[in-house]
Amino acid sequence: MSDKILVFIDQNKGETIPASWEALGAAQSLTGSFGGGIMAVVAGEGAQVAANSALQYGADQVFYSDAPVLSEYRAEPYADFLLQAVKDQEPEVIIFPTTTRGRELAAMSAVDLGSGVMPDVSALEVQDGKVIATRPVYAGKLLAKTYSESSPQIFTTRSRAFKAPQADAPKTGEPILVELEGITEDNIQTKVLGYSDSEVSVSLADAGVIVSGGRGISNNPSLSAPDGMDDKEAEIWRAQQGFKLVGELAQVLGGAVGASRAAVDAGYVPYDHQVGQTGKVVSPDLYIACGISGAIQHQAGMRTSKVIVAINKDPDAPIFKLARFGVVGNLFDILPPLTEAFRQRLS
Ligand SMILES: Cc1cc2nc3c(=O)[nH]c(=O)nc-3n(C[C@H](O)[C@H](O)[C@H](O)COP(=O)(O)OP(=O)(O)OC[C@H]3O[C@@H](n4cnc5c(N)ncnc54)[C@H](O)[C@@H]3O)c2cc1C
Repeated sequence: MSDKILVFIDQNKGETIPASWEALGAAQSLTGSFGGGIMAVVAGEGAQVAANSALQYGADQVFYSDAPVLSEYRAEPYADFLLQAVKDQEPEVIIFPTTTRGRELAAMSAVDLGSGVMPDVSALEVQDGKVIATRPVYAGKLLAKTYSESSPQIFTTRSRAFKAPQADAPKTGEPILVELEGITEDNIQTKVLGYSDSEVSVSLADAGVIVSGGRGISNNPSLSAPDGMDDKEAEIWRAQQGFKLVGELAQVLGGAVGASRAAVDAGYVPYDHQVGQTGKVVSPDLYIACGISGAIQHQAGMRTSKVIVAINKDPDAPIFKLARFGVVGNLFDILPPLTEAFRQRLS
């Protein structure tokens, strides 16, 4: 193994997912101990654009391929491409952003390279040539310092835990085009049939502000559902009215809408919004939990938020133990004037 660091840059049609720059920032924090430089790999349609950006963000060398076989993301050819791109480089450290693709490729690359993965790390340091990773365990209640005996050492970085480097716009360089060997449509088992738009307009992982709703969002007895609805339909209708209030606050604050699993399971909002152990892990500057009790599995996804605000009618709800600011009361009375106050303040 060399003392090079490799970073996977996740992009879509030339638009880089910001968590990739944080992964590059994590790599830069190790360069004092690993002198071999930082390599980046980029694949898919628009890869050359993202590859040029990666040079400006501080990668020393960038390998890319925009071959048609990689234009739709599929784990098999991407993992093969990664392996080919770096086979002569033998990096000692490989870092992936904690995006859906980054997580999947980290696992596949670890299998391909006979190594392990340390996922969702929030800090990296070097001791005696080993990279020590800090990562949450027990649903985020404890932080563990771990290292891997295997090589290369593979990590995924927790969103918003590492600082993205500043881009040096005038910097230019030549990304290296990788000629694919043996990656053809015939030997890929996954076929993409089509895409449909996700209803989530702001990526939860990158959002600086998240306003989330839980089961309590449907609990507005003073709101009568339109005639003809059965109980379940009326509950979902009431929840949708509640989520409109959540959405308005999120919009005024330039943020995204999250949800508890109870809200998702009840059909109030799609799964894309779910925060928690089995949903998204987020670390926004501000997290506002509305009608969410604060179960340990929900906390696992949001407890590292910088400022947590809870709105709940139950003063004993566990979320208040985590919250910096708590408002005890009916969220339907609290959200409209709160949104209005922010609107006036921010306009
Ligand atoms: C393996 C596993 C994985 C899980 N993964 C996740 C996960 O990823 N994310 C997740 O969120 N959960 C997850 N859960 C579920 C978790 O245990 C809780 O059931 C869930 O988080 C509860 O959601 P909630 O807080 O919205 O609902 P509840 O616990 O029912 O809380 C609703 C809250 O709303 C308040 N409320 C009611 N009406 C109002 C009102 N009008 N105004 C203000 N407050 C009001 C109530 O006081 C209450 O505190 C998981 C569970 C398991 C077993």
